[in-house]
Amino acid sequence: MKTRAVDARASKKSGNGVEEPSQAVDHIFDGVNREYQEMFSVFDSDSDGLIDKHEIFDLLEKSGILLNDARIQQTVEAIRKFSSPKINFSDFKATIGENSSLFKNIIQQRLIIPEFQTFCEEIREIFETVRSNRSGKVADYIPELGRIDPEKYALSVTTVSGQRYAIGDSQTPFCLQSTSKPITYCLALEEHGREKVHEHVGREPSGRGFNELSLNHKDLPHNPMINSGGIMSCSLIRSDLNLADRFDYILQAWSKLSGNARLNFNNPVYLSERETADRNFALGYFMREKKTFPAGSDLLQTLDFYFQCCSIEIDVEGLSVVAASLANGGVCPISGEKVFSSTTVQNCLSLMGSCGMYDFSGEFAFSIGLPAKSGVSGAVMVVIPNVMGFAIWSPRLDAQGNSVRGIEFCQHLVEQYNFHIYDSIVVDSSKKKDPRLKKNASKIEAVVQLCWAASQGDLFEVQNLISNGANPDGADYDGRTPLHLAASEGHEAVVLYLTSKCRNISPVDRWGGTPLSDAKKSGKLQVIRFLEEASLAHLAGNGASALQI
Ligand code: GLU
Repeated sequence: MKTRAVDARASKKSGNGVEEPSQAVDHIFDGVNREYQEMFSVFDSDSDGLIDKHEIFDLLEKSGILLNDARIQQTVEAIRKFSSPKINFSDFKATIGENSSLFKNIIQQRLIIPEFQTFCEEIREIFETVRSNRSGKVADYIPELGRIDPEKYALSVTTVSGQRYAIGDSQTPFCLQSTSKPITYCLALEEHGREKVHEHVGREPSGRGFNELSLNHKDLPHNPMINSGGIMSCSLIRSDLNLADRFDYILQAWSKLSGNARLNFNNPVYLSERETADRNFALGYFMREKKTFPAGSDLLQTLDFYFQCCSIEIDVEGLSVVAASLANGGVCPISGEKVFSSTTVQNCLSLMGSCGMYDFSGEFAFSIGLPAKSGVSGAVMVVIPNVMGFAIWSPRLDAQGNSVRGIEFCQHLVEQYNFHIYDSIVVDSSKKKDPRLKKNASKIEAVVQLCWAASQGDLFEVQNLISNGANPDGADYDGRTPLHLAASEGHEAVVLYLTSKCRNISPVDRWGGTPLSDAKKSGKLQVIRFLEEASLAHLAGNGASALQI
């Protein structure tokens, strides 16, 4: 307000009519004010200058933004503090203050999944379909895992806009096991860079069991997603610190990536892992014999550190935020904190994509086409780059060690949505849904593209768009169809093609014009002839496709 008073006093036009800086500031101020007004009016449906504060909360929840989201804490608390259930414009403006961009994106449906509620309902349906799958067996190589209720089942999704949804036992903690490995690898990359890290660990799928006693032809672990590679990543993390501080360091990374989720340490799991870890000890000694570890590594400490990482506990809600932080290039979407560089994440996702799902990695990359990592606790973390992260937890495992329901969920997910990394190049991928689009946006966009191609006489593009599912009879806001545009521009080949595809070759636009009347208006004689003949053929029930240029 103070700024406005000072500006108003100083507001003047210079002699040549050019705005002085104070006027420019006024304009910005007015623009900002107008934006707040527009947001306010969305809630103020009866235009009485007051809005129900619960409507704000409802909109947030519908959009998938939880009321405990750290980004909007101040706003939510300020709104709650108003004693009256209604708030006026100036209170609204003052409270949403620093969250105004987020609110604007929500109101204008510019979050990555605009119809979040619909998406969640569809995800819930998949979740319930998959629930009936009771095949597989809970891991029992240590008693703590063997005792877990096999019926436990949970799913959570977090988008890169910070929209969140969770179903089932979503707040029951489970231990990370191998889902810890991508993050351990990222930390090693952040500390040493890619070249140094890959002097100690390869980046090829092993084609072998996750704990098999084998190294690649350079005597390195095949990749950081299997046990030997996970142990190697641990050896590379903050070897300057004592074990307690190293563990604290890794826990802090998990905390930041998960937006401060509940994290526990499961001591019985850790002790059992250590007790029964002959194979991991064997891998460690094998690598030490081959001089694979960085100079000065302490093998027993490294193994201890590795068992500790496997024994960290999280729930699906937290793990989905971690997956979303990876999807978001290393920035936690619900805190905005940058945890890893985007190149670190790129490297990690590449290896999750080729090696993250044990011996099923090749098949998973082929049929699901998404970077993912699973662990023997039954957790699966799936990343849809630039869109969202999923976490699924169901303890029954298949023969490869992957959660049975986790895999089935992913299969349904990519059957329904165009999330497979190569869906964008599949011609009929339009059959799959794209939840990134607003309702009908894909149809509208296709009509716009088709109208443009028709107006330019670009027959190839017109054919391409129609064979990809664009509706040749679709019309824009004014009722103008591709046929109108091609006819008035005199693009004969396009007119001929469209008349063979359209159900109605005499659509009427909002001014009463048809393609034929458009062609007459612009004197396109050849097109007039085609359209007259086509009309006759249509009337005679022969269709227009018999016409020849
Ligand atoms: N703690 C397990 C091991 O090292 C991890 C197994 C896994 O989840 O892949 O054997």
